[in-house]
Amino acid sequence: MARLKVRISFPDRCKGCGLCAHFCPKEALVVGRNRNVQGYRVVEVVAYEKCTGCGICYLMCPDVVLEVK
Ligand code: SF4
Ligand code: SF4
Repeated sequence: MARLKVRISFPDRCKGCGLCAHFCPKEALVVGRNRNVQGYRVVEVVAYEKCTGCGICYLMCPDVVLEVK
């Protein structure tokens, strides 16, 4: 069975607040340098292989940017 993994499904909603990255226990996310249509820096997955699919980032994001599939 495939393991659950994080996806940045709606990057244009991201406000670059960093909550998801702060609370990720695996340090799999960072707020990157690329900006979205709103002008905010967008979160990126930097250690996809470390993601356990725990869903904490999904729960923390106030703008429902992330999905765990
Ligand atoms: S699902 Fe869990 S391990 Fe994966 S990026 Fe989100 S908080 Fe980190
Ligand atoms: S994905 Fe959500 S929690 Fe993470 S930086 Fe963007 S707005 Fe903040």
